[in-house]
Amino acid sequence: SHPLNFAVFGHPIAHSLSPQIHQAFARQFGIALEYRAIDAAPEEFADAVKRFFDGEDSRGANVTLPHKSAAFALADERTQAATRAGTANVLTHLANGRLSAHNTDGAALVRDLTDRHDLDLRGHDALLLGAGGAARAVAWSLFEAGVQTLTIVNRSPEAADSLADAIGEPARVHTRYWEDLANIGSFDLIVNATSAGTLGQSLSLPFTLLGSRATCYDLGYGKSAFGFVAWARAAGARYAYDGLGMLVEQAADTFELWHGKRPDSEPVYQALRAQSS
Ligand code: NDP
Repeated sequence: SHPLNFAVFGHPIAHSLSPQIHQAFARQFGIALEYRAIDAAPEEFADAVKRFFDGEDSRGANVTLPHKSAAFALADERTQAATRAGTANVLTHLANGRLSAHNTDGAALVRDLTDRHDLDLRGHDALLLGAGGAARAVAWSLFEAGVQTLTIVNRSPEAADSLADAIGEPARVHTRYWEDLANIGSFDLIVNATSAGTLGQSLSLPFTLLGSRATCYDLGYGKSAFGFVAWARAAGARYAYDGLGMLVEQAADTFELWHGKRPDSEPVYQALRAQSS
């Protein structure tokens, strides 16, 4: 019998860790699978997805920058998590031939913070920087995990406002202007969900954002998180994490969705951490 086929679509995609993570999970269960990294420019994405899923034994694909909105749009069905984010990082080929869009990013961040890093989010005043696809997924999940307040700040204020409006809990979730970051007090949790680091740009953030026991988290990992993590340490953060754990957790959720088995993410996370330092 043929191994089942999986893939990750992105642009660029050469350095994606997803094939390695999914193969490591598969080995935990003795499952044989193909998991390819497919580079597709935005104008080729829809055709590339169709070609992949037309192939025999193609069961699912992960989707990363810059295709998460397009993946959401081309799916036949969407889970609540995908609909809330307006983006998808998972496409699953259902038995009836339809494509289902899902988003595991928000749940992955919360699991990394609460399980791996032992943080109890309840009662936290959280600041979310960014209002793009990842930020939208993360905002809903932080809210549901019980943060006391969530302040969303985005360079373009409209995107932050529409995200806060969608959650619709003005007593707990509200927005501020980027220009006011120096005057909005301090937070227990600061999550950087902007793509500034990935784009090689730096954020200029005031140290006053950090409360006395603040945790800082950058969704990026590797080089793209260096700037924010260095800022957090300089500002006196109690903990400063990059997004490697979130990456492994979103893959674990995806793997469970596709294979019906929960992988042990910790050894895979530890191996990647060792490899990246
Ligand atoms: P989007 O392109 O959808 O959103 C980008 C966001 O970054 C917008 O809010 C944008 O603001 C903001 N931004 C970009 N440049 C700057 C800047 N110089 N200053 C301030 N704000 C800026 O990207 P995604 O939401 O998909 O991804 C965001 C980041 O999260 C990426 O780095 C991605 O790699 C990472 N990520 C990591 C995951 C993981 O598993 N660890 C999972 C998902 C994402 P504006 O609206 O004003 O343009």
